[in-house]
Amino acid sequence: MFDKSILGHMEIRSRLLERVNAGKFYGSLLFVGQDGIGKRRVALEMAQREVCFRRSACGVCEGCKLFKTDPLPKEFPNLLRIAPEGKAGLIKVDTIREDELVEGGVINWAYQAAPPNCHRWIVIEDAHRLGKASANILLKTLEEPPPDTFFLLLTHMPESVLPTIQSRSERVVFSPLRSDEIGEVALRHGWDKSELDVWIAVSNGTLKYLDRDMFARACSQIDAWVSVMEGIPFKNVSESLLPDKSSELAQSQQVTLALEQLLIVLDEQMRILKGMPAHLTQWAARLGSLTNKQINVQDGCKCALEAMRNLSRNAAPETLLRKVSLTLN
Ligand SMILES: [Zn+2]
Repeated sequence: MFDKSILGHMEIRSRLLERVNAGKFYGSLLFVGQDGIGKRRVALEMAQREVCFRRSACGVCEGCKLFKTDPLPKEFPNLLRIAPEGKAGLIKVDTIREDELVEGGVINWAYQAAPPNCHRWIVIEDAHRLGKASANILLKTLEEPPPDTFFLLLTHMPESVLPTIQSRSERVVFSPLRSDEIGEVALRHGWDKSELDVWIAVSNGTLKYLDRDMFARACSQIDAWVSVMEGIPFKNVSESLLPDKSSELAQSQQVTLALEQLLIVLDEQMRILKGMPAHLTQWAARLGSLTNKQINVQDGCKCALEAMRNLSRNAAPETLLRKVSLTLN
């Protein structure tokens, strides 16, 4: 009953399946958990199971293959996927209301009859990027969806999800994946055993860095942050940290990734100070020689987290990152 190619989150997946089977699935759920830990895959699995030729999310039949297409379609027979778009990374009103995503708009789609033996699933990715205007259109339907229509809202920034949305959805909290789980996925994606330790340390319980270019960028960001801690001025390393204009990722998403890497570096610094074994082996010597410099790890973390919060208020990336770097040297 579960797609074997999806690893982890078994408890949540079993619970969701039980509830659907028992007819105890209602309204809207808010999937909360770190970015890149597979919330979307778990959401898609719900719909995949219903169009699977074996009704089991076998992962190999033509029905299941629909859910593994790259790029992933926005519309499936029983599922509609709403995601932020453009450099600003917002879920636009037109996407919800007009024909842009689906004929007649999202609400109309929600009220159409589901295909035989299926529900209608509406997955809203990065639900914290749903603006007030877009949310207002959805609120009534979110609160009382038509029978057999379910909303799954996904977010890694629950505190930035509009309170009106939060109050209308039930929270499902996802934990980071275990090292052995992400390690196994990496091996399946062609990573070599010898590369695994560093990859696992950088990935920090997520699957964000399966792509080699993404991983290389993360490593250059770790390098940049360590340099800043060593006293190198921000402007000398800013290229690795500031958003890359040629990237498909939204600016805010790119800055979040850079800040997450800083949190990983600071966590590692804390481990070294406590005499615990290093995870980021490649940088361990440099971080080790910084232990006399008395970098305020806690202030650094606080500042990075605050910068992440300010990002959702569309603050300028350079100002945010520069301010964070000042707390480090
Ligand atoms: Zn199948």
